[in-house]
Order: sequence, then C-alpha cells, then structure tokens
Amino acid sequence: MMDKIVVNTAIVGSGASGLAAAITAAERIGGKNVILIEKQAKAGRKLLATGNGRCNISNKNINKSHYYGDEKLISSVLRDFGYNELIRFFRELGLLIREDSDGRLYPYSNQASTVLDCMRNRLIRLGVKEYCSCNINTAEYKNGRILLRNEETEMLAENVIFSCGSKASPSLGSDSSGLGLLKNAGIRSAPLFPSLSPVETKEKYKVLKGVRAKGRVSVICDGNTVRQKQGEIQFNDKGISGICVFECSRLINEYLYFHTVFGKSCRKLYVSIDLMPDYYEKELCSYLRLCRKISDQQPAADILSGALNKRLSEVLVKYCRIDKKPCRDLKESDIMQLSTAVKNFCFTPVNSDSFKTAQVCAGGIGSDEVDPDTLMSRKIKNLYICGEMLNVDGDCGGFNLHFAFGSGIKAAKNIK
Ligand SMILES: Cc1cc2nc3c(=O)[nH]c(=O)nc-3n(C[C@H](O)[C@H](O)[C@H](O)COP(=O)(O)OP(=O)(O)OC[C@H]3O[C@@H](n4cnc5c(N)ncnc54)[C@H](O)[C@@H]3O)c2cc1C
Repeated sequence: MMDKIVVNTAIVGSGASGLAAAITAAERIGGKNVILIEKQAKAGRKLLATGNGRCNISNKNINKSHYYGDEKLISSVLRDFGYNELIRFFRELGLLIREDSDGRLYPYSNQASTVLDCMRNRLIRLGVKEYCSCNINTAEYKNGRILLRNEETEMLAENVIFSCGSKASPSLGSDSSGLGLLKNAGIRSAPLFPSLSPVETKEKYKVLKGVRAKGRVSVICDGNTVRQKQGEIQFNDKGISGICVFECSRLINEYLYFHTVFGKSCRKLYVSIDLMPDYYEKELCSYLRLCRKISDQQPAADILSGALNKRLSEVLVKYCRIDKKPCRDLKESDIMQLSTAVKNFCFTPVNSDSFKTAQVCAGGIGSDEVDPDTLMSRKIKNLYICGEMLNVDGDCGGFNLHFAFGSGIKAAKNIK
C-alpha cells in the first residue's frame, strides 16, 4: 500500500540548506504544515563531516568576493543573510559560536554534531515531521500543486523547496539526482564541476604521501599566473592537497573539465609550488653553497636537510638528477637547478573523479531559472531551490555553509 501525504510545504533534502529552510518555514506557517524528506537513513550526514567534524559554520568576513557563479543569486542571499543574521539565527537555536584567528566561525563545542542537534531539536519542538530513507525519484506539477513520489510514498504539496545538494562527495548523499528531477521539469542548470578538491597530478611521488609543507601554490595558464595561494600543502600518492591547493582547485577543475579558465580558453595549465617563498632564489643559492661546504661528503639530499622535510629533499635531488652525487661534487649549475626546483616544483593536473573528494560543486541552477528575490522557479510556481543546487560556490572558510543556510532561509521566507 502506498503512503499518501498531503502537506502545505515539503522540503526535499535535509542538509544544511534544507534544515534551515524547514526551521524557517515551520516558524512561519507552523511545524505541522511542513515535512522534511531525506533519502538517507539520517538527516545532515554531510553537515557532520564538515570542517573535519568541527563544522566551519561561517566566516566573519562574509562578502561577495568569496563567492563564484551567479552574481544575482549571491547578492540577493547575502543582502538578507550576513554575519549578524547568521549569529542571530543560531543564537535563537541556542548554539554558541566561536571565532578563530582567521575569522572562521565554529560551534563553541568544536563539534559539528552540536549544530545538527540544535537544528533538529528545534524542528522537533516545532513539530516538523522528518521522512528519512525516502528517496524522491519523481516530481510532477499538477493544478498548481507538486506531487513528489517514490515506490512507497506519494506526497502532494502546495510548496516544495528543493535542497538536494549537488554532486560533491556523493557518499554523503548528494548525487545530483535533485538536479535531474528538475531537469525533467525543464529547469536547466550550468554544467557542474568540482571545487575545493585535492588535485591528482601526472607526477606521482609515492614517498611524499603524508608530507606537509608550508609554501606558495601558483596556477599557471598559458604562461600567466592566474591564481596564487600560500599556506599548508599536503602531498599524497596521487598528487597534492591542503587548503591552498583546495583554493586553487576550482580553476584547475574548470580547465580539466572544459579547457577554460575564468571562462576563457586555456591550452596548457600547470601548478608550480614554491617550497621556500620567504627566500629569493639568489638567497637560496647562497644558502645551498654554504650547505655544500658543511655537508661535504654526505649525499646530495642532505644539502637541504636544514631547510625542508627529508623526503621532499630526496625527491627534489632526484628531480634534478643529482641524487647520486655527494654534496661537495655539486657544481654551480646543480645548485642553480636545485634552487629553481625548490622555488618552482611543477605538477601537471590530470582528470580524475574529483567529485568524489570535492567539498562543493561549481555550476548549478542560475537566476535565469530562479527569481533571485524569492528563489522561486521562473517556470514552476511555488517550487523553490536553495543551497548547492544553485549556481553559487564559495571559498574555503565557512562560505559554503553560510550560503546554504542563507538560501534555505530565503526560500522558506517566500513560500505562500
Ligand atoms: C567533507 C566536507 C567538508 C566540508 N566542510 C565545510 C566547512 O567546514 N564549511 C563550509 O562552509 N562548507 C563545508 N563543506 C561544504 C558544505 O558542506 C556544502 O556546501 C553544504 O553542505 C551544502 O548544503 P546543501 O543543503 O545544499 O546540500 P547537502 O548538505 O549536500 O544536502 C543535500 C541533502 O539532500 C539529500 N537528497 C539528495 N537528493 C535527494 C532526493 N532525491 N530525495 C531525498 N533526499 C535527497 C541528500 O542525501 C543530502 O542529505 C564541506 C563539504 C564536505 C563534503
């Protein structure tokens, strides 16, 4: 027997944006008139994984410059929901927030589960019913109402808010099936590509797996530096990772997926890592000459032993093909070559399934399909779209969750 449910507002997807939408809708029209549908066994699985389990909920420096994609949507959501509004929203749920020295906001408990608990407890108090393990696989639009369905359940709603996420980290629930449902209804979206992901490279240095270094990452497109980020770089057996690599990955993935960078054609792109950005090449050469004297008969890799991680030094001397020489036999040309390698350690990004490891997706539904002032579909009345389904993605640092919460709240404020 098929379950039949009739409700005023159904929210499909209980991630960050869906939870925020459900709270706001229930506060406006009463919890009994709102249902929250989730295909996984529990709500908010991705939320629990955010910020390494700490949930970097937002950022003190929320502004448009940290976002990419559809400018009208970005402006409209941030206009209503900035730093103060986020603090107020969570304070009303009883969540205390702390800020780190870079302006990143975390729950005071440092546990993502506190954020989810505060949101879910509010939904329980409001009387919102949650339908978990309920994968919506068809959506039909009839006589001004929307019929959501799967094999066991039919749900007929006056308003539907789609908050199904995109395609990043599908193991946590979002696999772009929501965008597929809307595509069937004629709602188009810009092609997706991963952002905030590790980068797989042609050069694979297995020995570097687990090595961390502070450095500067530059993305070079047809000879021009198009992005530069400084910070911690993590090496793994497939390529490179770490926050500054994540922050360059949007451009790198755009190139890998479309052969463009910032929408313009790019023929060749590579990544250059400066492992000692605090030193000019000339200073580094003088230092290496000094170490050549000090290290004398020791293997070439020891010339960098006072400056870099041992495994990195070994890879770099091999990269320069000087690993078989003792330090004292290194010629002036070897010193120059090694200092260039330290300052310009090159990697060639290659295609991989970065959606699996990405934190967010670029692309999605834009303001040509939804009204930025209400987040209602321009084609289907009373159908709203929020969160990562929209063509907006942000930098690392809490910007993506902030947009998810803000857009969920905005959509719910506009239901009739
Ligand atoms: C590992 C990781 C760490 C991250 N850390 C941070 C961080 O610290 N700070 C930050 O700002 N951002 C972070 N992000 C990004 C952030 O989590 C996302 O941008 C945000 O969760 C998007 O929220 P959403 O509600 O749009 O989608 P999601 O959170 O993906 O939620 C969508 C929900 O919809 C459900 N669903 C999908 N299709 C259907 C369907 N057909 N029927 C029923 N249910 C469906 C899914 O199961 C899912 O629960 C991180 C992401 C990852 C993967």
